[in-house]
Amino acid sequence: MVHLRSMIKGSSSVSRGEEVADRSHSKSGIGVVIWNVTYDCNMRCSHCYQSEWRPIRELSDFNELRIVDQLEELGKPLIFISGGEPLLKSQTPQLIRELKARDFRVILSTNGSLNGALRSVADSLDNIALPLYGPEEFHDTITSVKGSYNSVINALRDLRGMNLTIKTVASRSTMKHIRHLLDVASRYDVSTLYVCDLLPEGRASSSEILSKEEWRKLLDFFLQEVIMEEEYGEIEIDIGLHPSAAIYASMRAGFEVKRRIMREGRGLISISPTGDVLLSPYLGDLRIGDARRIKEALESDIYRKVGDARNLKGACGDCPFKEVCGGSRVKAYVYSGDLLGEDPTCLIN
Ligand code: SF4
Repeated sequence: MVHLRSMIKGSSSVSRGEEVADRSHSKSGIGVVIWNVTYDCNMRCSHCYQSEWRPIRELSDFNELRIVDQLEELGKPLIFISGGEPLLKSQTPQLIRELKARDFRVILSTNGSLNGALRSVADSLDNIALPLYGPEEFHDTITSVKGSYNSVINALRDLRGMNLTIKTVASRSTMKHIRHLLDVASRYDVSTLYVCDLLPEGRASSSEILSKEEWRKLLDFFLQEVIMEEEYGEIEIDIGLHPSAAIYASMRAGFEVKRRIMREGRGLISISPTGDVLLSPYLGDLRIGDARRIKEALESDIYRKVGDARNLKGACGDCPFKEVCGGSRVKAYVYSGDLLGEDPTCLIN
């Protein structure tokens, strides 16, 4: 996660989440948990990194493994509840309320189709992330569900006043609609636009992936028009799966990146629907432990090795920014099969 406004202009809507993550990280080595509660989904988005829902045995009782107890003992990291579509799972509202009752900071990533369930838990959430890919017809084609655009707009309208995020994917076709996304964000007082890079996995088409030059142009637009000129108010721009965006932005805008980016092996873990601890939700085959023993997963060789920038290879290994950036370990693995290899999408190389 690279928070451009926060880096350039100081505090923003995400600063509180960063504080929570940093405090927990310095206590126990874990700052952010992406908890995928189910693989099940009622949409079939064309960019999704999961090809299909896998009919496997998912956890039905979150208390069974004492996951929340352990996370509390580890310092209450920032929790992202995600899926699949997390609200399809009947136990999710109870889990969210339990986390909130224990004073965790909780963000829900949902597709916005289950408005009743969403409204019922909204008060227990610190941020709600809803997808948007472009205007109505385009958005519905991406999700393959007619009416999905209107569901998101209705949710944004109903939840206006809360801390909201619009999440999207950086692809060649969606980025043609970037101004539409920002207009909608402005209209409904959305605090953050989350733009995640596309991985050549699952249903995603490689021809949709932005080149480095296209990424640089996109970042220039965010830096100049969205952040410096505040054309769309004080919206935060959060870049996902592209840590070198922070280094590129710092060079363009003339500031120094002081905060180390939380990434795989360095403060961020994922819990899978089956109760595995993973380095990242995008790396489903890289299990680092069992959710019954999260601390052991943090002490595993693989977690420690990936988190230590001295182990990086190639351009990332030789880079003066490897401590703050370190490249995307997900992309190193997806593109070359080597978790410690260089990030082939680096924007400054
Ligand atoms: S070479 Fe690696 S560590 Fe350096 S900026 Fe690029 S992605 Fe980050």
